[in-house]
Parts: sequence; structure tokens; C-alpha cells
Amino acid sequence: MNLHFKNRIALFNTVAAAITMLVVFAAVYAVVYITTYRHLDSNILVERAELFSQISTVGDSLVFSLNAEWEEMEHNRAEVDPIFLQMVDDRGTVIFHSRNLENDKLQFADSLTEELFFNVEFNGKKIRQGQFPIKTEGGKIIGQLDIGISQVDSILILTNLRNTFFAAFPLMLLFFYGVTSLVASRSIAPVKQLIAYAEKMNYNNIDPRLPLPVHHDEIYHLTTTINALLERIETGRSREKQITADISHELRTPLTSIKGTLEVLIRKTREPQQYEEKVRQVIHEVDSINHIINQLLYLARLDSGNLSIVKKPVNLYDMLLAVKNRWRLQMNSKQMILKLDIPQDTVVQADFGLLEMIMENLVSNAVKYGYKQGQLVCNWQADTGILSISDNGPGIPQEHLPHIFNRFYRVDVPGSTLVQSTGLGLYIVKMLAGIQGIQIQADSQINRGTQFHLHFNG
Ligand code: ADP
Repeated sequence: MNLHFKNRIALFNTVAAAITMLVVFAAVYAVVYITTYRHLDSNILVERAELFSQISTVGDSLVFSLNAEWEEMEHNRAEVDPIFLQMVDDRGTVIFHSRNLENDKLQFADSLTEELFFNVEFNGKKIRQGQFPIKTEGGKIIGQLDIGISQVDSILILTNLRNTFFAAFPLMLLFFYGVTSLVASRSIAPVKQLIAYAEKMNYNNIDPRLPLPVHHDEIYHLTTTINALLERIETGRSREKQITADISHELRTPLTSIKGTLEVLIRKTREPQQYEEKVRQVIHEVDSINHIINQLLYLARLDSGNLSIVKKPVNLYDMLLAVKNRWRLQMNSKQMILKLDIPQDTVVQADFGLLEMIMENLVSNAVKYGYKQGQLVCNWQADTGILSISDNGPGIPQEHLPHIFNRFYRVDVPGSTLVQSTGLGLYIVKMLAGIQGIQIQADSQINRGTQFHLHFNG
């Protein structure tokens, strides 16, 4: 059933109220029922005491004389509130009965030892009956006394109670449902307001300020949480816009440079070494474009979860030597050196391609951001299984350090405008390390350098 929230609240409350009312009614009814029948039984006991006072025994025989007063009383109430009396001897012969019994008999038991109370129908009327054994002084049972009292009054009380409840029950539930639904509707008004505001928003129109409700309750908390979320989406969105603009710019710079170089080249015929120099410049620019596009492709593959990992033994020394050779030109142009402080037989368990991408990124950062004549050291600690790649470059300010592995996070370093930067490198490194079970951590000190530590766990 597709119920509105307020109706669902009202329905749940009404069901709970209905169950409570039923339980309370059952308890009240039980108390009234027990009290009423106790009252009838105590009336029967009063009659019994009165009658027993007029019964005596001679040997095993019953001697019994009703006094005139009792007869008069019984006569008077015969119509209004009849009490039926019957005395039976031990052979089952009725030796006395009240006039209102006429030719009928009350129920009597063949062998009654204890007094007994029960409800029974007599001449179409419900009566409460008590059966009492009559004993000699020696304790021998020589007959029984049966007393019946009409239940009309008690049944009337109980019926009235029942009817009143069953008539009032649906009305009370209806009233309760109405009131709760009204209260619920007022309580969820702020939620409706939130929905109305949220419906007006779309990707291009995010207003991160939903109106806060007056009361500091769960809805207030929900609103502040949504506001914080919208704020984050808004920040992320504008950062991504900025990054898209930056990446376009980064791509345009080498493209413009390539175009310029090629235009200069075709203006006139040149010496072979001039061609060679210009072609080398173009190759360098193409490499930059290639790097940016590679990072974007990795990002897309990471996002789609499409990277397959094949962990195998990888020789760290050989891998870093190959990386060093690939970066030889750039390092030479900055007069930088890379020291491999790693035993040649160092082997780790990793995916070759993904680990190589990690090394490329870390070495490329150290070269990109490092000072001229800087020094890079790759160090392996066999006992802890930690590979550290350290440089003595400008370092990363402490306030940026916790964020450098975030997607698109870049540190604006003065004088670094020439450096091609997307803010994706370390994010990709962290992700690639994570999926291989390698932990990565960075330490840095301004003007002293930066160290990246890779923990290989087994
Ligand atoms: P980018 O593509 O900008 O290099 P990264 O995610 O690789 O992106 O690096 C994030 C930021 O961390 C960079 O903008 C840079 O300022 C800083 N950084 C990374 N490595 C180094 C390093 N070795 N020395 C100094 N700063 C670094």
C-alpha cells in the first residue's frame, strides 16, 4: 500500500493505540467480571450461613425448620431478585425447596464433599449456583444445600460495559487517527519544504543553503548534513571545472609550442642539425601531452575499476634502473643525479605495470619539482620492506601534505609555472599502491626535500 509518510505515522500510532485500548479493556472487563461474580458468591454464602443456622442433625437425620421471618423475606423478593433454595438428602431426595422452584430442581451432585460455585442455565435464565455439603457433627455427609441466585444484574453490567467499549472503540480510533495524522503532517512540514527546495536544484544550479528549521531536532541535523554535502559537491564541481580548464590549458601549451616550432621550420630550408634540434623539442612536447593523456586514461580506468592485477616477483633494482634511464635526458638538463641504494637482487611481489607507473610518477615529480643539481635517492630497507624515494628539492608545505594524494590536488609553488601539473599523479600512485596492498606515506620539509615511503607487506 502506497501511503503518505504522515498517514503511515498515523496508522502505526493508531494500531499501537488500538492494541493498548484492547489490553486495557480486557483488564478492566476481567476485574469487573471477577468482582461481580465474587459479589454473587458472597451473597450465596450469606444465604448459606442463614440457612445452616436453621438446620440441625439428629444422628444421621436432618432436622430443619425455616423461621417465619425468612419465609416472609423470600416471599417478598421472589419476583424481583429470586433466590432458589433446595435441600437434598444423601439419597438424592429433595426434602425441601423454595416456593419459586415450583416443580423444578436445581442441579445437585451425587457425591459432593466440598462447596462448589458455577454458572448454570435454569428455566432459560442464567443463575449462579452454590452447592454445599451438609455434614453431621462427626463429619458424615448427610445431604446437600443448593442455592441459586439470578445473574441478571451482573450480566447487564458486563453487557453494558462491553457494548459501550465496542461502540466507543472505532470512534476513538477514528479520532486518534485524525489527530495523529494532523500532528504528523505538521511535524513533517519542514521535510516537505526541503523537498521543494531540493527539487529546484540541478547539477548547474546548486544552492548549498537549504533553509534551517527552527527546532534543533533530527530534521535540523538532516538539513545541516545535506547543506554540508551540497557545499562539498559545489566545491568539487568548481574544482573540476577549474581542473578541466587547467588541463585544456596544459594541453594547449605544448600544442602551441609544437605548432610554432613546425611553422618556423617550414618557413625556409635549414641545416640538418637545426631540424634535429627542433624535432627533439617537438618530441619533448609530444611526451608532455602523452603524459597528461596517460594520467587521464589511468584515472578513467581507475574510476571504472577496469584494472587487472597480476602480482609476480619484480626486481626493484632493474625496474628503477629502467626508470632512471628513461628520465636521463631531463635529469641531465637539470644536472640532477639519481642514486640507487638498492641491492641488485631485491625482489618484491607486485604487478609489474602498476608498480612501474608508481615509480615513474614519483621519479617524475622529484625531477619536475626538484632543484637544479638536485639529488634523488632510492633506498631499500630489507628488514622492514620499505622502499624510500627521497629528493632534496623544495619540499611540500606541512598544511598541504595531508592532501597531496587527493584527486586534482596541486600545491601552488612560486616559480613552478613551467611545471606541467594536473594534480593527478599522486592520486593515481595512491590508488595503484592501494589495489596492490602497498601502503604509501609522504614526509617533507621545506627546502630540505621530500620522501615517499612504500611499504611492501610480504
Ligand atoms: P602533479 O600532476 O601536479 O604533479 P601530483 O599529484 O603528482 O600532481 O602532486 C601533487 C602536488 O604535490 C604537486 O602539485 C606538487 O606541488 C607536490 N609534489 C609532489 N611531489 C613533490 C616533490 N617531490 N617535491 C615537491 N613537491 C611535490
